[in-house]
Amino acid sequence: MRGCRPRYLGSNPNPGLMMIYNTLSGEKELFEPIHKNRVNIFVCGPTVYDESHIGHARTYIAFDVIARYLKYRGFSVFYLQNITDVDDKIIRRASELGITPIELARRFEKRYLEDMCALGIHNVNLYARATEHIPEIIEQIKTLIEKGFAYETETGVYFDETKFEDFGKLSNQTIEDLTEHRIEPDPTKRNPGDFSLWKKREEEPAWDSPWGRGRPGWHIEDTAIANTYFGPQYDLHGGAKDLIFPHHEAEIAQMEASSGKKPMVRYWMHTGFLNVNGEKMSKSLGNFMTIRELLERYEPDVFRFFVLSTHYRSPINFSEEALEQPKRSLERIYNLIRTIDGLLDGMNEEYMEGDEEFSEKLIDAKNKFLDAMDDDFNTPLALSLIFDLVRAVNRYIDDKKVSREALRDVKHLFIEFGEILGLKLSVGDSKEDLTDDLIDLIIEIRQKLRDKKDWEFSDDIRSRLRDLNVILEDGAGISNYYMLKRV
Ligand code: AMP
Repeated sequence: MRGCRPRYLGSNPNPGLMMIYNTLSGEKELFEPIHKNRVNIFVCGPTVYDESHIGHARTYIAFDVIARYLKYRGFSVFYLQNITDVDDKIIRRASELGITPIELARRFEKRYLEDMCALGIHNVNLYARATEHIPEIIEQIKTLIEKGFAYETETGVYFDETKFEDFGKLSNQTIEDLTEHRIEPDPTKRNPGDFSLWKKREEEPAWDSPWGRGRPGWHIEDTAIANTYFGPQYDLHGGAKDLIFPHHEAEIAQMEASSGKKPMVRYWMHTGFLNVNGEKMSKSLGNFMTIRELLERYEPDVFRFFVLSTHYRSPINFSEEALEQPKRSLERIYNLIRTIDGLLDGMNEEYMEGDEEFSEKLIDAKNKFLDAMDDDFNTPLALSLIFDLVRAVNRYIDDKKVSREALRDVKHLFIEFGEILGLKLSVGDSKEDLTDDLIDLIIEIRQKLRDKKDWEFSDDIRSRLRDLNVILEDGAGISNYYMLKRV
Protein backbone atom coordinates (compact mmCIF):
# COMPACT_ATOMS: atom_id res chain seq x y z
CA MET A 1 0.00 0.00 0.00
CA ARG A 2 1.27 3.49 -0.80
CA GLY A 3 0.82 6.38 1.57
CA CYS A 4 -0.37 9.77 0.50
CA ARG A 5 2.73 11.88 0.65
CA PRO A 6 3.21 15.53 -0.25
CA ARG A 7 5.51 16.09 -3.23
CA TYR A 8 8.52 18.32 -2.83
CA LEU A 9 10.16 18.27 -6.24
CA GLY A 10 9.48 20.88 -8.92
CA SER A 11 9.12 24.55 -8.21
CA ASN A 12 10.04 26.10 -4.90
CA PRO A 13 7.08 25.36 -2.61
CA ASN A 14 8.05 28.24 -0.39
CA PRO A 15 9.18 31.03 -2.68
CA GLY A 16 11.06 33.55 -0.63
CA LEU A 17 12.29 36.88 -1.86
CA MET A 18 15.85 36.90 -3.10
CA MET A 19 18.24 39.29 -1.46
CA ILE A 20 21.52 40.30 -3.08
CA TYR A 21 24.31 42.33 -1.51
CA ASN A 22 24.99 45.37 -3.67
CA THR A 23 28.49 46.86 -3.38
CA LEU A 24 27.05 50.20 -4.52
CA SER A 25 24.70 50.56 -1.54
CA GLY A 26 26.70 48.43 0.87
CA GLU A 27 23.49 46.58 1.74
CA LYS A 28 21.51 43.49 0.90
CA GLU A 29 18.69 44.50 -1.42
CA LEU A 30 15.61 42.78 -2.73
CA PHE A 31 16.38 41.34 -6.16
CA GLU A 32 14.21 42.98 -8.81
CA PRO A 33 15.53 42.60 -12.35
CA ILE A 34 14.90 45.38 -14.86
CA HIS A 35 12.89 43.14 -17.19
CA LYS A 36 10.92 41.22 -14.56
CA ASN A 37 11.88 37.67 -15.49
CA ARG A 38 14.98 38.29 -17.56
CA VAL A 39 18.38 38.74 -15.96
CA ASN A 40 21.40 40.13 -17.76
CA ILE A 41 24.73 39.39 -16.09
CA PHE A 42 28.13 40.69 -17.08
CA VAL A 43 31.23 39.29 -15.39
CA CYS A 44 34.71 40.59 -16.17
CA GLY A 45 36.56 37.86 -18.02
CA PRO A 46 40.28 37.15 -18.04
CA THR A 47 43.17 38.95 -19.67
CA VAL A 48 44.46 36.09 -21.77
CA TYR A 49 48.25 36.29 -21.54
CA ASP A 50 48.99 33.28 -19.33
CA GLU A 51 47.45 30.23 -17.65
CA SER A 52 44.47 30.91 -15.37
CA HIS A 53 45.03 30.20 -11.70
CA ILE A 54 42.70 28.95 -9.00
CA GLY A 55 42.06 32.50 -7.73
CA HIS A 56 40.36 33.16 -11.08
CA ALA A 57 38.55 29.83 -10.69
CA ARG A 58 37.15 30.93 -7.31
CA THR A 59 35.51 33.97 -8.85
CA TYR A 60 34.16 32.15 -11.90
CA ILE A 61 32.79 29.25 -9.82
CA ALA A 62 30.99 31.78 -7.60
CA PHE A 63 29.30 33.41 -10.61
CA ASP A 64 28.56 30.03 -12.15
CA VAL A 65 26.54 29.13 -9.05
CA ILE A 66 24.84 32.53 -9.06
CA ALA A 67 23.78 32.01 -12.71
CA ARG A 68 22.70 28.42 -11.98
CA TYR A 69 20.57 29.49 -9.04
CA LEU A 70 18.92 32.34 -10.90
CA LYS A 71 18.02 29.90 -13.68
CA TYR A 72 16.75 27.42 -11.14
CA ARG A 73 14.51 30.13 -9.69
CA GLY A 74 12.96 30.53 -13.11
CA PHE A 75 14.78 33.58 -14.44
CA SER A 76 15.83 33.65 -18.03
CA VAL A 77 19.52 34.43 -17.65
CA PHE A 78 21.90 35.85 -20.21
CA TYR A 79 25.44 35.62 -18.89
CA LEU A 80 28.04 37.61 -20.80
CA GLN A 81 31.77 37.60 -20.22
CA ASN A 82 34.36 39.68 -22.02
CA ILE A 83 37.75 38.35 -23.03
CA THR A 84 40.51 40.95 -22.75
CA ASP A 85 42.58 40.00 -25.79
CA VAL A 86 44.31 43.36 -26.27
CA ASP A 87 46.45 44.60 -23.41
CA ASP A 88 50.00 45.70 -22.58
CA LYS A 89 50.67 42.42 -20.72
CA ILE A 90 49.67 40.41 -23.81
CA ILE A 91 51.91 42.50 -26.05
CA ARG A 92 54.89 42.16 -23.67
CA ARG A 93 54.53 38.41 -23.24
CA ALA A 94 54.04 37.83 -26.98
CA SER A 95 57.21 39.72 -27.76
CA GLU A 96 59.12 37.64 -25.17
CA LEU A 97 57.87 34.48 -26.87
CA GLY A 98 58.41 35.78 -30.40
CA ILE A 99 54.78 35.37 -31.48
CA THR A 100 52.08 37.91 -32.34
CA PRO A 101 49.86 39.27 -29.54
CA ILE A 102 46.78 37.79 -31.21
CA GLU A 103 48.41 34.35 -31.44
CA LEU A 104 49.24 34.51 -27.74
CA ALA A 105 45.76 35.73 -26.83
CA ARG A 106 44.05 32.94 -28.81
CA ARG A 107 46.31 30.31 -27.26
CA PHE A 108 45.45 31.33 -23.69
CA GLU A 109 41.81 32.01 -24.44
CA LYS A 110 41.48 28.41 -25.64
CA ARG A 111 43.19 27.15 -22.52
CA TYR A 112 40.96 29.33 -20.34
CA LEU A 113 37.83 27.94 -21.98
CA GLU A 114 39.11 24.38 -21.53
CA ASP A 115 39.78 25.14 -17.86
CA MET A 116 36.26 26.48 -17.39
CA CYS A 117 34.85 23.38 -19.05
CA ALA A 118 36.93 21.14 -16.78
CA LEU A 119 35.59 23.03 -13.76
CA GLY A 120 32.00 22.43 -14.89
CA ILE A 121 31.35 26.07 -15.81
CA HIS A 122 28.95 25.88 -18.73
CA ASN A 123 26.61 28.78 -18.06
CA VAL A 124 28.26 31.63 -19.91
CA ASN A 125 26.11 32.38 -22.95
CA LEU A 126 28.62 34.51 -24.76
CA TYR A 127 32.33 35.16 -24.49
CA ALA A 128 32.97 38.47 -26.25
CA ARG A 129 36.45 39.44 -27.38
CA ALA A 130 37.49 43.06 -27.02
CA THR A 131 39.17 42.96 -30.45
CA GLU A 132 35.85 42.09 -32.07
CA HIS A 133 34.16 45.20 -30.66
CA ILE A 134 36.51 47.95 -31.80
CA PRO A 135 33.79 49.87 -33.76
CA GLU A 136 31.54 49.89 -30.66
CA ILE A 137 34.46 51.04 -28.50
CA ILE A 138 35.24 53.89 -30.93
CA GLU A 139 31.56 54.92 -30.95
CA GLN A 140 31.43 55.12 -27.16
CA ILE A 141 34.61 57.20 -27.03
CA LYS A 142 33.22 59.54 -29.71
CA THR A 143 30.07 60.06 -27.61
CA LEU A 144 32.13 60.79 -24.50
CA ILE A 145 34.15 63.42 -26.39
CA GLU A 146 30.98 64.96 -27.87
CA LYS A 147 29.40 65.20 -24.43
CA GLY A 148 32.50 66.85 -22.96
CA PHE A 149 33.60 63.97 -20.72
CA ALA A 150 36.69 63.03 -22.71
CA TYR A 151 39.47 64.83 -24.54
CA GLU A 152 42.24 64.06 -27.00
CA THR A 153 45.99 64.71 -26.46
CA GLU A 154 49.11 63.73 -28.44
CA THR A 155 49.21 60.37 -26.65
CA GLY A 156 45.58 59.33 -26.69
CA VAL A 157 42.05 60.01 -25.52
CA TYR A 158 41.34 60.35 -21.79
CA PHE A 159 38.28 60.45 -19.58
CA ASP A 160 38.23 63.61 -17.47
CA GLU A 161 37.22 62.29 -14.06
CA THR A 162 36.41 65.77 -12.73
CA LYS A 163 33.55 66.03 -15.25
CA PHE A 164 31.64 63.05 -13.85
CA GLU A 165 30.20 64.13 -10.56
CA ASP A 166 29.45 60.61 -9.28
CA PHE A 167 33.05 59.49 -9.64
CA GLY A 168 33.96 57.37 -6.61
CA LYS A 169 30.42 56.26 -5.73
CA LEU A 170 31.16 52.54 -6.00
CA SER A 171 34.36 52.55 -3.97
CA ASN A 172 33.09 55.30 -1.68
CA GLN A 173 35.98 57.64 -2.33
CA THR A 174 36.39 61.28 -3.28
CA ILE A 175 38.31 62.45 -6.36
CA GLU A 176 41.19 63.42 -4.04
CA ASP A 177 41.37 59.91 -2.53
CA LEU A 178 41.14 58.36 -5.95
CA THR A 179 43.83 60.49 -7.52
CA GLU A 180 46.29 59.50 -4.83
CA HIS A 181 46.05 55.84 -5.79
CA ARG A 182 46.17 56.26 -9.54
CA ILE A 183 49.26 55.54 -11.53
CA GLU A 184 48.72 56.21 -15.21
CA PRO A 185 51.43 58.84 -15.58
CA ASP A 186 51.17 60.94 -18.71
CA PRO A 187 52.18 64.60 -18.89
CA THR A 188 49.50 65.35 -21.48
CA LYS A 189 46.59 64.53 -19.12
CA ARG A 190 44.50 67.31 -17.58
CA ASN A 191 44.24 65.59 -14.19
CA PRO A 192 46.49 62.88 -12.75
CA GLY A 193 43.50 60.55 -12.23
CA ASP A 194 42.16 60.78 -15.80
CA PHE A 195 42.16 57.36 -17.40
CA SER A 196 42.90 56.19 -20.88
CA LEU A 197 40.14 55.42 -23.39
CA TRP A 198 42.30 55.18 -26.51
CA LYS A 199 46.07 54.77 -26.70
CA LYS A 200 47.72 56.20 -29.81
CA ARG A 201 50.15 53.47 -30.89
CA GLU A 202 51.58 52.23 -34.17
CA GLU A 203 52.69 48.79 -32.97
CA GLU A 204 50.32 45.86 -33.56
CA PRO A 205 47.61 45.20 -32.67
CA ALA A 206 46.35 48.60 -33.78
CA TRP A 207 43.19 49.88 -35.43
CA ASP A 208 42.33 53.06 -37.30
CA SER A 209 40.26 55.55 -35.35
CA PRO A 210 39.29 59.23 -35.58
CA TRP A 211 42.33 59.84 -33.33
CA GLY A 212 44.80 57.88 -35.43
CA ARG A 213 46.00 54.30 -35.15
CA GLY A 214 45.98 52.76 -31.73
CA ARG A 215 44.23 50.46 -29.30
CA PRO A 216 41.57 50.82 -26.62
CA GLY A 217 42.20 51.35 -22.92
CA TRP A 218 41.19 48.53 -20.58
CA HIS A 219 38.00 49.93 -19.02
CA ILE A 220 36.20 50.95 -22.22
CA GLU A 221 36.03 47.44 -23.67
CA ASP A 222 33.63 46.24 -20.97
CA THR A 223 31.19 49.11 -21.29
CA ALA A 224 31.22 48.97 -25.09
CA ILE A 225 30.58 45.21 -25.03
CA ALA A 226 27.87 45.42 -22.34
CA ASN A 227 26.19 48.26 -24.22
CA THR A 228 26.22 46.20 -27.44
CA TYR A 229 24.34 43.25 -25.95
CA PHE A 230 22.40 44.71 -23.01
CA GLY A 231 22.12 48.44 -23.64
CA PRO A 232 23.30 51.00 -21.06
CA GLN A 233 21.43 49.46 -18.11
CA TYR A 234 21.43 45.89 -16.90
CA ASP A 235 21.03 43.78 -13.81
CA LEU A 236 24.22 42.30 -12.44
CA HIS A 237 27.87 43.04 -12.89
CA GLY A 238 30.53 40.96 -11.18
CA GLY A 239 34.19 40.43 -10.61
CA ALA A 240 36.51 40.07 -7.64
CA LYS A 241 36.96 42.91 -5.16
CA ASP A 242 40.15 44.18 -6.80
CA LEU A 243 38.02 45.36 -9.70
CA ILE A 244 35.88 47.77 -7.66
CA PHE A 245 38.51 50.43 -8.16
CA PRO A 246 39.64 51.62 -10.62
CA HIS A 247 38.02 49.28 -13.16
CA HIS A 248 34.36 49.28 -12.17
CA GLU A 249 34.45 52.88 -11.03
CA ALA A 250 35.71 53.82 -14.51
CA GLU A 251 33.05 51.65 -16.14
CA ILE A 252 30.28 53.48 -14.29
CA ALA A 253 31.72 56.83 -15.38
CA GLN A 254 31.98 55.78 -19.03
CA MET A 255 28.57 54.18 -19.32
CA GLU A 256 26.53 56.65 -17.29
CA ALA A 257 28.27 59.64 -18.87
CA SER A 258 27.82 58.36 -22.43
CA SER A 259 24.20 57.21 -22.05
CA GLY A 260 22.98 59.79 -19.53
CA LYS A 261 21.13 56.91 -17.80
CA LYS A 262 21.58 55.81 -14.19
CA PRO A 263 22.29 53.35 -12.78
CA MET A 264 24.35 51.41 -15.28
CA VAL A 265 24.00 48.28 -13.15
CA ARG A 266 21.38 47.44 -10.54
CA TYR A 267 23.50 45.09 -8.42
CA TRP A 268 27.28 45.21 -8.26
CA MET A 269 28.57 41.89 -6.95
CA HIS A 270 32.16 41.30 -5.83
CA THR A 271 33.86 38.13 -4.73
CA GLY A 272 36.47 37.90 -1.99
CA PHE A 273 39.98 36.81 -2.91
CA LEU A 274 41.43 33.39 -2.83
CA ASN A 275 44.50 33.97 -0.67
CA VAL A 276 47.63 32.05 0.18
CA ASN A 277 48.92 32.77 3.67
CA GLY A 278 46.69 35.83 3.81
CA GLU A 279 47.90 37.27 0.50
CA LYS A 280 45.88 37.41 -2.72
CA MET A 281 46.86 34.66 -5.15
CA SER A 282 48.24 36.41 -8.20
CA LYS A 283 50.66 36.05 -11.05
CA SER A 284 52.72 39.01 -9.91
CA LEU A 285 53.32 37.58 -6.41
CA GLY A 286 54.23 34.20 -7.87
CA ASN A 287 52.10 32.42 -5.22
CA PHE A 288 49.72 30.79 -7.67
CA MET A 289 48.60 27.31 -8.65
CA THR A 290 47.15 26.98 -12.12
CA ILE A 291 43.76 25.38 -12.64
CA ARG A 292 45.50 22.65 -14.61
CA GLU A 293 47.91 21.86 -11.79
CA LEU A 294 45.00 21.66 -9.38
CA LEU A 295 42.99 19.35 -11.62
CA GLU A 296 45.91 16.98 -12.07
CA ARG A 297 45.66 16.23 -8.35
CA TYR A 298 42.05 16.85 -7.35
CA GLU A 299 38.59 16.25 -8.70
CA PRO A 300 36.93 19.51 -9.84
CA ASP A 301 34.09 18.94 -7.36
CA VAL A 302 36.52 18.88 -4.43
CA PHE A 303 37.70 22.37 -5.33
CA ARG A 304 34.16 23.57 -6.05
CA PHE A 305 33.01 22.26 -2.68
CA PHE A 306 35.98 24.01 -1.05
CA VAL A 307 35.07 27.30 -2.76
CA LEU A 308 31.40 27.04 -1.87
CA SER A 309 32.15 26.30 1.77
CA THR A 310 32.93 30.01 2.16
CA HIS A 311 30.50 32.80 1.29
CA TYR A 312 31.36 34.34 -2.08
CA ARG A 313 32.07 37.75 -0.56
CA SER A 314 34.54 36.47 2.05
CA PRO A 315 38.19 35.68 1.51
CA ILE A 316 39.29 32.04 1.33
CA ASN A 317 42.68 30.88 2.46
CA PHE A 318 43.94 28.16 0.15
CA SER A 319 46.24 25.31 1.05
CA GLU A 320 46.29 21.74 -0.20
CA GLU A 321 45.54 20.51 3.33
CA ALA A 322 42.36 22.60 3.26
CA LEU A 323 41.11 20.43 0.37
CA GLU A 324 41.06 17.33 2.58
CA GLN A 325 37.88 18.36 4.40
CA PRO A 326 35.77 18.89 1.22
CA LYS A 327 37.11 15.60 -0.10
CA ARG A 328 35.87 13.80 3.03
CA SER A 329 32.56 15.67 2.97
CA LEU A 330 31.85 14.65 -0.61
CA GLU A 331 32.79 11.08 0.22
CA ARG A 332 30.16 11.08 2.99
CA ILE A 333 27.49 12.11 0.50
CA TYR A 334 28.66 9.53 -2.07
CA ASN A 335 28.59 6.83 0.63
CA LEU A 336 25.01 7.66 1.47
CA ILE A 337 24.04 7.60 -2.21
CA ARG A 338 25.76 4.24 -2.64
CA THR A 339 23.87 2.91 0.37
CA ILE A 340 20.61 4.17 -1.11
CA ASP A 341 21.42 2.61 -4.50
CA GLY A 342 22.16 -0.71 -2.77
CA LEU A 343 18.87 -0.57 -0.86
CA LEU A 344 16.89 0.42 -3.94
CA ASP A 345 18.10 -2.70 -5.74
CA GLY A 346 16.65 -5.03 -3.15
CA MET A 347 13.47 -3.22 -2.04
CA ASN A 348 9.90 -3.54 -3.15
CA GLU A 349 7.45 -0.65 -3.49
CA GLU A 350 6.01 -0.97 0.01
CA TYR A 351 5.03 2.11 1.99
CA MET A 352 6.75 2.37 5.37
CA GLU A 353 5.48 3.93 8.55
CA GLY A 354 8.23 6.56 8.62
CA ASP A 355 7.48 7.85 5.11
CA GLU A 356 5.24 10.72 6.01
CA GLU A 357 7.57 12.13 8.63
CA PHE A 358 10.50 11.53 6.30
CA SER A 359 8.80 13.38 3.51
CA GLU A 360 8.21 16.37 5.80
CA LYS A 361 11.92 16.32 6.56
CA LEU A 362 12.76 16.50 2.87
CA ILE A 363 10.39 19.40 2.30
CA ASP A 364 11.88 21.20 5.26
CA ALA A 365 15.45 20.53 4.08
CA LYS A 366 14.67 21.85 0.63
CA ASN A 367 12.93 24.97 1.94
CA LYS A 368 15.84 25.78 4.23
CA PHE A 369 18.32 25.20 1.40
CA LEU A 370 16.41 27.59 -0.87
CA ASP A 371 16.11 30.16 1.91
CA ALA A 372 19.89 30.04 2.33
CA MET A 373 20.44 30.53 -1.39
CA ASP A 374 17.84 33.30 -1.50
CA ASP A 375 19.83 35.12 1.15
CA ASP A 376 22.65 36.44 -1.03
CA PHE A 377 23.65 32.96 -2.24
CA ASN A 378 24.68 31.64 1.15
CA THR A 379 26.35 28.46 -0.09
CA PRO A 380 28.15 27.58 3.19
CA LEU A 381 24.79 27.44 4.94
CA ALA A 382 23.27 25.51 2.03
CA LEU A 383 26.08 22.92 2.27
CA SER A 384 25.69 22.56 6.03
CA LEU A 385 21.97 21.90 5.49
CA ILE A 386 22.85 19.14 3.06
CA PHE A 387 24.86 17.53 5.85
CA ASP A 388 21.99 17.84 8.30
CA LEU A 389 19.98 15.94 5.74
CA VAL A 390 22.69 13.30 5.27
CA ARG A 391 22.63 12.67 9.03
CA ALA A 392 18.84 12.51 9.13
CA VAL A 393 18.60 10.12 6.17
CA ASN A 394 21.24 7.84 7.66
CA ARG A 395 19.17 7.68 10.86
CA TYR A 396 15.99 6.77 8.98
CA ILE A 397 17.83 4.09 7.03
CA ASP A 398 19.36 2.64 10.22
CA ASP A 399 15.88 2.51 11.74
CA LYS A 400 14.55 0.85 8.54
CA LYS A 401 11.76 3.40 8.42
CA VAL A 402 11.73 4.43 4.77
CA SER A 403 10.38 2.97 1.57
CA ARG A 404 11.81 2.64 -1.91
CA GLU A 405 9.95 5.69 -3.15
CA ALA A 406 11.13 7.82 -0.25
CA LEU A 407 14.71 6.83 -0.94
CA ARG A 408 14.30 7.65 -4.61
CA ASP A 409 13.06 11.09 -3.55
CA VAL A 410 16.20 11.62 -1.46
CA LYS A 411 18.36 10.71 -4.42
CA HIS A 412 16.53 13.19 -6.62
CA LEU A 413 16.80 15.88 -4.00
CA PHE A 414 20.58 15.42 -3.86
CA ILE A 415 20.74 15.61 -7.65
CA GLU A 416 18.67 18.80 -7.54
CA PHE A 417 20.93 20.39 -4.90
CA GLY A 418 23.92 19.25 -6.94
CA GLU A 419 22.61 20.89 -10.11
CA ILE A 420 22.15 24.18 -8.30
CA LEU A 421 25.66 24.10 -6.86
CA GLY A 422 27.30 22.50 -9.90
CA LEU A 423 28.30 19.42 -7.89
CA LYS A 424 27.70 15.92 -9.09
CA LEU A 425 25.81 14.54 -6.11
CA SER A 426 25.17 11.13 -7.62
CA VAL A 427 27.44 8.17 -8.01
CA GLY A 428 28.06 7.93 -11.73
CA ASP A 429 26.53 4.52 -12.39
CA SER A 430 23.01 5.48 -13.31
CA LYS A 431 21.75 5.69 -16.87
CA GLU A 432 21.21 9.43 -16.41
CA ASP A 433 24.87 10.00 -15.53
CA LEU A 434 26.02 7.89 -18.43
CA THR A 435 23.84 9.97 -20.79
CA ASP A 436 25.44 13.17 -19.53
CA ASP A 437 28.92 11.77 -19.96
CA LEU A 438 28.11 10.55 -23.47
CA ILE A 439 26.73 13.95 -24.49
CA ASP A 440 29.86 15.63 -23.16
CA LEU A 441 31.95 13.20 -25.18
CA ILE A 442 29.96 13.88 -28.39
CA ILE A 443 30.39 17.62 -27.87
CA GLU A 444 34.11 17.21 -27.38
CA ILE A 445 34.40 15.19 -30.60
CA ARG A 446 32.30 17.77 -32.45
CA GLN A 447 34.56 20.56 -31.21
CA LYS A 448 37.54 18.69 -32.67
CA LEU A 449 35.71 18.47 -36.00
CA ARG A 450 35.03 22.21 -35.86
CA ASP A 451 38.69 22.87 -35.10
CA LYS A 452 39.44 20.96 -38.33
CA LYS A 453 36.76 23.03 -40.11
CA ASP A 454 34.66 19.95 -40.89
CA TRP A 455 31.48 22.03 -40.78
CA GLU A 456 29.28 19.52 -42.61
CA PHE A 457 29.83 16.71 -40.15
CA SER A 458 29.74 18.99 -37.09
CA ASP A 459 26.46 20.58 -38.27
CA ASP A 460 25.05 17.13 -38.85
CA ILE A 461 25.92 16.15 -35.27
CA ARG A 462 24.23 19.29 -33.98
CA SER A 463 21.03 18.66 -35.88
CA ARG A 464 20.97 14.96 -34.87
CA LEU A 465 21.40 16.04 -31.24
CA ARG A 466 18.60 18.56 -31.67
CA ASP A 467 16.34 15.69 -32.79
CA LEU A 468 17.17 14.13 -29.43
CA ASN A 469 16.29 17.37 -27.60
CA VAL A 470 19.85 18.32 -26.88
CA ILE A 471 20.41 21.87 -28.05
CA LEU A 472 23.87 23.11 -28.95
CA GLU A 473 24.64 26.68 -29.84
CA ASP A 474 28.02 27.93 -30.87
CA GLY A 475 28.82 31.24 -29.21
CA ALA A 476 29.28 34.20 -31.53
CA GLY A 477 32.78 35.49 -31.92
CA ILE A 478 34.39 32.48 -30.38
CA SER A 479 34.75 28.96 -31.62
CA ASN A 480 33.24 27.46 -28.54
CA TYR A 481 29.85 26.11 -27.55
CA TYR A 482 27.40 26.32 -24.79
CA MET A 483 24.80 23.80 -24.21
CA LEU A 484 21.40 23.45 -22.68
CA LYS A 485 21.00 20.02 -21.23
CA ARG A 486 17.75 18.28 -20.45
CA VAL A 487 15.51 20.66 -22.38
P1 AMP B 1 42.35 38.97 -14.55
O1 AMP B 1 42.59 38.03 -15.67
O2 AMP B 1 43.54 39.17 -13.67
O3 AMP B 1 41.72 40.25 -15.02
O4 AMP B 1 41.29 38.30 -13.55
C1 AMP B 1 40.06 37.74 -13.96
C2 AMP B 1 39.08 37.72 -12.80
O5 AMP B 1 39.59 36.93 -11.72
C3 AMP B 1 38.79 39.10 -12.19
O6 AMP B 1 37.43 39.15 -11.78
C4 AMP B 1 39.70 39.13 -11.00
O7 AMP B 1 39.26 40.05 -10.05
C5 AMP B 1 39.58 37.69 -10.51
N1 AMP B 1 40.70 37.28 -9.65
C6 AMP B 1 42.03 37.43 -9.89
N2 AMP B 1 42.76 36.96 -8.86
C7 AMP B 1 41.89 36.48 -7.93
C8 AMP B 1 42.02 35.86 -6.63
N3 AMP B 1 43.20 35.62 -6.08
N4 AMP B 1 40.89 35.52 -5.98
C9 AMP B 1 39.66 35.74 -6.52
N5 AMP B 1 39.48 36.31 -7.74
C10 AMP B 1 40.56 36.68 -8.44
